[in-house]
Amino acid sequence: MEREWTPLSARPEGYRSVVVLTGAGVSAASGLPTYRGPGGLWTADPELARSLVAGASLERMWSALGPLRAALAEVRPNAAHRALADFEARHVAAGGRFCLITQNVDGLHQAAGSKNVVEYHGSLLRSRCLGACGVIDDRAVHAKPPACPGCGGPMRPDVVLFEETIGVRQERAAKRALDECDLFVAIGTSGMVWPAASFVRGAEYAGAYTIYANLTGLGGEHPYAETILGPAEEVVPRLFGA
Ligand SMILES: [Zn+2]
Repeated sequence: MEREWTPLSARPEGYRSVVVLTGAGVSAASGLPTYRGPGGLWTADPELARSLVAGASLERMWSALGPLRAALAEVRPNAAHRALADFEARHVAAGGRFCLITQNVDGLHQAAGSKNVVEYHGSLLRSRCLGACGVIDDRAVHAKPPACPGCGGPMRPDVVLFEETIGVRQERAAKRALDECDLFVAIGTSGMVWPAASFVRGAEYAGAYTIYANLTGLGGEHPYAETILGPAEEVVPRLFGA
């Protein structure tokens, strides 16, 4: 059942500090498959998910994630990515604060022009030296583990695998943004599993208004003040539009 909802620009609240969390649903219209649910990567290939857990060998990581890099070379930002980048530019120019936390590792928010992006699960467009050299931009589809151009040691994709810990910097940036937000919007992600579930509680604790936008609703008890149903590429431009 579709309910009426109001674009942010037509709401009287005048939110100053906005935090948006995005998941795979935002990139679906760009042609990237989601992970869970019907047609999802993990659903179609449970072995892929199993290979991407903490402690996986570098060979497994690269054989599972390498092909995804090839897919990323083909995709472009969609209307949802563009609307969020436009909103950030307008909102910040007007003196507001904006933080985009994304679970996606596809780099499409930055490609659309988003500036303050916390890549909560890292980026598939970077590789990380297992020594001390840090991360480098790397879009190459490596068939086997590549050598670090700095030290010659092994590198891994700069993404967070299942059961791995979120980067300290990302964790801190997300928490700081949530602590001060007055509007929190989760888009295209599973609203009641981690991290959305803990983010919405954090936002609620900060006194923020909370919106959940996704293809399917949550059903039952949940902490979001408002639910908007629909595909991200339609909902986001209308919700965040000028
Ligand atoms: Zn190195």
